[in-house]
Amino acid sequence: MIIQLQQGIPAELKENILQQIKEVGFKGNEVQTQEGHYIVGIGKKDFDIRTIGQLPGVADIHRVSDEYKLISRKWKVEPTRIDLGDGVIIGEGQFSIMAGPCSIESEKQIELVVQHLVENNVKIMRGGVFKPRSSPYAFRGLGLEGLQLFHRICREHGIKIITEVMQVSQIEDMIDYVDVFQVGARNSQNFNLLDALGEAQKPVLLKRGISGTIEELLQAAEYIFSNGNEKIMLCERGIRGYENAYRNILDLNAVPVLKAKTHLPVIVDPSHGIGLRDYVEEMSLAAVMAGADGVIYETHQKPEEAYSDGQQTLNFKESERMIRRMRQTYSLRESF
Ligand code: PEP
Ligand code: MN
Repeated sequence: MIIQLQQGIPAELKENILQQIKEVGFKGNEVQTQEGHYIVGIGKKDFDIRTIGQLPGVADIHRVSDEYKLISRKWKVEPTRIDLGDGVIIGEGQFSIMAGPCSIESEKQIELVVQHLVENNVKIMRGGVFKPRSSPYAFRGLGLEGLQLFHRICREHGIKIITEVMQVSQIEDMIDYVDVFQVGARNSQNFNLLDALGEAQKPVLLKRGISGTIEELLQAAEYIFSNGNEKIMLCERGIRGYENAYRNILDLNAVPVLKAKTHLPVIVDPSHGIGLRDYVEEMSLAAVMAGADGVIYETHQKPEEAYSDGQQTLNFKESERMIRRMRQTYSLRESF
């Protein structure tokens, strides 16, 4: 159930509502959005919602009959925009580019990538310091120290940071050094992590699971929102199918479908989506035309020497060309 509170509700009335929710066996989470102030009641007992609906301070009450509600267009028609500060905004009306290496490797590497981004007016750098790797023997990232280095260099150049968080215990250590937490495909249904990110109040880019359905992605996003964090973007990064001519199947069908179902920004990752450097540009342009609000991709000064995902990583020349062509394609799309 979702309880809409009256504007400027006094603390004691809110406490009373939370208390009453507890008494009917529900857990109450406070959610403050750009639109209003809510309490989300989580539980499964059936009761007459009017008992809560008539309490002082309640503006409206809704029963949640769908699997997800807060992230849906039915709940909020206006698109959500996520403000990272310093004029960096993600969402409809903007085309966001997030680029960088698969893994953060060294100070020199960060500096070279930052310089490439600055030259191309790209404001958000990606790079993993905690890496989920299929093999336990592969490079697993520089960890918190790498993140602090990443943060220092990016801050000097006004670049925002997106990086993957793999478990709840890392959130607290990472939060001061991150602008957007990435939830990777392997953690797309790590519900404890989603709950904790809902409480963390930092923007989250939530990737679709390796074999995740659209429905599962939306429900995962609802976990974050229903814990109080509305700053979520969804990311299509390819799903597993039977085809093995490329790494994954970049499901661009997901873009217009997600855009219709939710008010959240939709970002496409063509690097993991196709997994082959030569075709990343084509898929990124297709993503723009499909209606994506942004693209996240991998670039490195020497892809052949990258510690991870070199086969799908663009060098700076390829990256520069792709940035130019994505922007041209976005202008074309917006002129229709
Ligand atoms: C990554 O962004 O480098 C990554 C590991 O992505 P995914 O979770 O989509 O595999
Ligand atoms: Mn990668």
